[in-house]
Formats: sequence, C-alpha cells, structure tokens
Amino acid sequence: MSAAEAVTEALRELHARFVPLREGSLAEYIPQLARSDPDAFGLALISMDGHCYGVGDTRAPFTLQSVSKPFVYALALSLLGLDEVCRWVNAEPSGEAYNAVSLEPDTGRPDNAMVNAGAIITTALIPDTPDAPRFDRVLGCLSRFAGRELDVDEQVYASEAATGDRNRALAYLIRSTGPLPVDPVAAVDTYFRQCAVRATAMDLAAMTATLAHGGVNPLTGDVVVSGPVAAQVLTVMATCGMYDASGDWLLRVGLPAKSGVSGGLIAAGPARFGLATYSPRLDSTGTSVRGRAALGALSERLGLHLMHNPALAGSTVTLIATADELPTAGAAPRARAPRERVAVVAAQGALDFTAAERVLYALDEARPRGTEPVVLDLVEVTGVDRVARVMLGGGLGRIAAAGARTAVADPSRWLDLPGPGGREGPGVPRGFATRARAVAWCTGDGPG
Ligand code: GLN
Repeated sequence: MSAAEAVTEALRELHARFVPLREGSLAEYIPQLARSDPDAFGLALISMDGHCYGVGDTRAPFTLQSVSKPFVYALALSLLGLDEVCRWVNAEPSGEAYNAVSLEPDTGRPDNAMVNAGAIITTALIPDTPDAPRFDRVLGCLSRFAGRELDVDEQVYASEAATGDRNRALAYLIRSTGPLPVDPVAAVDTYFRQCAVRATAMDLAAMTATLAHGGVNPLTGDVVVSGPVAAQVLTVMATCGMYDASGDWLLRVGLPAKSGVSGGLIAAGPARFGLATYSPRLDSTGTSVRGRAALGALSERLGLHLMHNPALAGSTVTLIATADELPTAGAAPRARAPRERVAVVAAQGALDFTAAERVLYALDEARPRGTEPVVLDLVEVTGVDRVARVMLGGGLGRIAAAGARTAVADPSRWLDLPGPGGREGPGVPRGFATRARAVAWCTGDGPG
C-alpha cells in the first residue's frame, strides 16, 4: 500500500459508511434527471499540488446543474468586476429555495448568484458577440476550471428547455422590474445549456480545487481566474451556496459549497483542496443526501471547518538567541574581549501577516534593551507575501533608524535589502547571504 493510500482510505471509509443511506429522491422536474442511477456514489478530492484521490463513481458523467453557478459567476466577475456584477446581482443569503422569486422588492435585483434568479442574470451578463457567443465563453470557462474539454448532455438540456417554465417566468419577472443592460429572457436558454454541461465528480473536484487554489488549476497550471475573483466566489458559496440551508451548513461543515439537483455537491478548503461528491438522491432542499452526510463527516474527521483553523503556534520563529550562544561553524572560539551582544532571530516557512507579527514580536523579545544589533535569519523561509514584506521592512527599518545595526540573512532576497557595501547611509537594514556574515557585520568583524 502506498503512503498516500491513507487519503484514499479515509474517502473509502466514508463511502462505505454512507452507501447504505438510501433516503431522498431523484429530481423529477427535469424528466431526464429522473432516469439517472439512484445508487451512483462517488467521492473525489484534489489537493493544491494536483494530487487526485477518488473512491466509487468518480468517472461517471452527470450534468452540473446548479454546481455550474459559482463558475459562471467567476466568469462574470472576471469580465465585469465585482462592483458591476453587484449592481445587478446582490450577494446576500436569500434564506429561500433555489427556485424562489428572490428579488429585492424595489429594484428586482436577485439576492445572490447561487439561486436561479441570480444565476440567470449572471449568465445574461456574459457578453454575447459573433466571434465569442455567450455559451462558448461559458463552456470554455467551465472546461478550463475542469482542465479538460467538457460537453453538453443534449438530452438533459432538451428536457429542461421543454419544462423550464419556472425559470423562464423568473427571467420575465426580472426583466419586468429592473433596468438591466441585458435581456435575461434571451439568456435563459444559455442558462439551461450551462446546467446541462456534463462532468464527473473528479472534474468537479478539479474545478473546486481551482477556486481553492486562488484561480489556478492545480492540474494544468492554467490561471483561470484571478485570486481575488476566486476568493469572491468562495465567499458567496460560503454564505449562499446551500440556499436556505447555507447557515446551518457553514455552522456544521464550515466549507464553501454548492449543490446541484443532479446530485453533485462541491466543497472547497481554501488553499487546501477541492472536494466533490456525486449521489443523485436529494433532500428537500435539492442537495444530495449522501453528499451532505459524507462532506459533513469528512470535515469533522479531518478538522476542515474554516473557523476552526488554529494557527500553529511557534511554527514561524525557530530561534531567539544571541550570537555568542550559537556555534560558529568551522571557526575556533575567539579569545577576544566579549563583543557586543547581537540578537539573533530565525524564522521558517511562508510568512504572511500572522507570521510577520510573530517575527516582529520575537525581534523585540530578543532585544530587551531595544538598542542591541540584531540579525534576522530568513534562510529557512519559503515565501514572503506582500503584507509580510511591508511589515518586516517597516519593523527592521525602525530598528535600524534607531541606530542599531540590523542585518538579515536573506539568500533568496525576499526583502530585497542593500548589501553591506551599499551606498545607503547608516540606519538602513542590510541583506547577507548567510547568517554568519550577517553576525560578523553586526559585530564589526565583517565587511561594511
Ligand atoms: N437546472 C436547475 C434549475 O434551474 C438547476 C437547479 C439546481 O441544481 N438546484 O432549476
């Protein structure tokens, strides 16, 4: 058994546990959906490194239905921006069923893009031009999220088109109330086609992993949408993705999610994974019974709840010491008068706001008098985001400006500091390739 089998094993256990669950019924208002296999059950997970895990019916195609909504919303946000999209589709939980008439009384604006009314407008907002027809754009975008060419189940499309009067009625109602720049009635057919796009649970896991991965498909490396757009979509999924059960879902499962009436259910662990389940028997809210149970159990078992994400204490700062407490590699102890005390702080891993705060606090702890020279060792740091770069630059600059020698061992040049020979005057932090050189400079033994 391979080591990574442990992940598959966790999925396998859930699959076995919920296979006996036969509650719920198939969606019947789209006649073709009533023909799907009620016992199909698949679970798929894709990590941010593109590692794929699946159990059961993960390669069985089914139509996206409402699972398409967050991805078309992502396309609209990419093309028009959040403010423009929000003018026409709000981002408030409706607390109502997916097919409710969730429209603001005065403006006719739908509550959010996860319910049908909002999804129809979202689709309508996608530009329709001769060189790039609206549906081609939608299908192209869904395919890039999946990392392969998806297609349409023409029978399901025809079935919904023949029976979709409620959605057409919604489109007419919206058109009657709002000064929309687009025609939702004309777009409702495109909406039916997007709902009939066919994918597998593994495809859905890839699509969801792309959202969780800041818009970059972890299988293909394709930048499908920007990081901010991916975050906006995940947010609306978290607050509205499960319709009138969204609050309870966020409370208990704690993951942005979206369900569809064909039995698909997706959930994203931001910066962690994309999850998808397929099982067509639905509860009264139109959500897969087994999918809901399996994702709930998985979240609890693996500690995935968004709000329950304790930052690992002590994992950023690995050392607070003074230079004379540290072994100097290769060099014999020097028989010189005690040198000035040089504080040394070492950090590791990826530095963001939280990690940068820890490093700055440690720098203060390491310099009880507040005047000692200091070395910050970033040799084991694997990344520094924009916020952390500004924070560290500011904190180190403050120490240096107060007159203390301030050196950073920064071979990857995360902070892009001048070297010891730079033309900058004193009072500026300096960058070095190794900790030893940084310490030597602080003690006056090194160049500079
Ligand atoms: N095509 C379906 C509809 O518009 C999608 C609904 C859903 O999956 N919840 O009614």
